[in-house]
Amino acid sequence: MASKMFDLTGKVAVVTGGNGGIGLGMAQGLADAGASIVIAARNEAKSKAALDDLHGRGAKAVSVTTDVTDEAGVDKLFAAVQAQFGRLDILVNNAGTNIRGAPQNLTAGDWHKVIDTNLTSAFLCSQAAHSQMKAAGGGKIINIGSMMSIFGSSYAAAYAASKGGIVQLTKSLAVAWATDDIQVNAVLPGWIDTDLTRGARQQVKELHDNVLRRTPAKRWGEISDMSGVAVFLASPASDFVTGAAIAVDGGYSSLG
Ligand code: NDP
Repeated sequence: MASKMFDLTGKVAVVTGGNGGIGLGMAQGLADAGASIVIAARNEAKSKAALDDLHGRGAKAVSVTTDVTDEAGVDKLFAAVQAQFGRLDILVNNAGTNIRGAPQNLTAGDWHKVIDTNLTSAFLCSQAAHSQMKAAGGGKIINIGSMMSIFGSSYAAAYAASKGGIVQLTKSLAVAWATDDIQVNAVLPGWIDTDLTRGARQQVKELHDNVLRRTPAKRWGEISDMSGVAVFLASPASDFVTGAAIAVDGGYSSLG
């Protein structure tokens, strides 16, 4: 019984930005639980390396080179899912970016790039997934928020706005699609060691030590720390969990 509860055999999962970082950590968890994986990202070399990793774990996995901020790119992705697998069960809206700087220095272009990548893409992909999930008899959508879904940041106003928006989008889709048997939840990662945060550590010198000091677990998260929550939220174990925002943060958001 317990093993079936987390079994994803026969399920098809799209992971945006699944070619590295948190997206790859989640894709690895879903693959190990039996799901077939579709990675959606722009960098083909990175996607190839991620596919090698997933194939090495015995998973069925393909990649679609696409930009999820673009409506045509999203249409291409979900058409490819139907062509390859004929069904969709799980969507992880993980693609994300950040442009750091004082809010008074962010350009309108910076603002739109961050909002489009982190928030609009999640809306467009969820919308495209809805009919395919209904046809499959239900589905699971996992949106990636941040500690900045909760806290403000003096150097990441657009990012924090996008991640706050992710939580409200999650709740709205959850209530709208509950009777379609589609559960929609958000994961709020703490500080995880990825390309994104390696860039942040280069830009903000004190960040590395501040994170260690501030995180009750006294370490940075690894991408493998994101695998289990993805399996839980993608599996029958979470069938009555919807609209939630689950922190995976080593206690960061619990410390006053
Ligand atoms: P990475 O930079 O490692 O991963 C981001 C991924 O998004 C890349 O694989 C990138 O692939 C993809 N991506 C970016 N823009 C697009 C686009 N327009 N179309 C398709 N794919 C795109 O960062 P993380 O793994 O750290 O971040 C993943 C998510 O987790 C983000 O939403 C981030 O905000 C969030 N997060 C990360 C935290 C951390 O500590 N690392 C903490 C909280 C949240 P490619 O370049 O090939 O397109």
